[in-house]
Amino acid sequence: MSLPDLAIDIATVKGFLDPAEGACLYDYALTVPGPCLELGSYCGRSSIYLGSACKRTGNVLFSIDHHRGSEEHQPGEQYHDPDLWDARLGQVDTLPELRWNLARAGLEETVFPVVARSARLAKHWRTPLGLLFIDGGHSEQAAWNDYRGFTGYLLPGGILLIHDVFPDPQQGGRPPFVIWSHATASGLFEPLPAVGTLRALRRLGST
Ligand code: MG
Repeated sequence: MSLPDLAIDIATVKGFLDPAEGACLYDYALTVPGPCLELGSYCGRSSIYLGSACKRTGNVLFSIDHHRGSEEHQPGEQYHDPDLWDARLGQVDTLPELRWNLARAGLEETVFPVVARSARLAKHWRTPLGLLFIDGGHSEQAAWNDYRGFTGYLLPGGILLIHDVFPDPQQGGRPPFVIWSHATASGLFEPLPAVGTLRALRRLGST
């Protein structure tokens, strides 16, 4: 595994991605056959790992998020952050924080934020992908929308990454595990090594 070459201290970026998982994302993003896309930018921690690898190879990353926070980011929930609250709208807004982090990481020409709900965007998406990172909402519907909306665009040899996969239901929610199990059983992918709650698969097929 290569040591990620990041322009800023990743600990200063709000987020839930473990550094070992980030290094794994970075490593996979260095060797993909097309553009990268992530579902769930939040404040850009994974965007910085993936985007820094893309910058190094001349690739690009589309970073998709509605920026209104997942279930667990809402007021009164476990991961609510008052710094990410837009008082005028009375809603979470993580986009300014993402833009700040991308700017200071020197990634504005490499990472393209798209403010959209994944299911709405998927209807209009046409670009083949070299890497897809699913790290969006953890509800059953959100996870399936992310999986069904974008995995079909993965090029042969492309990498599918899924975050927050907990085989033991006591440890965390089921939907990421369910879509990972589905992908694994589909015959369309081969498993690859990953760390923590990250899972990696390679799309089979010839280029
Ligand atoms: Mg996650």
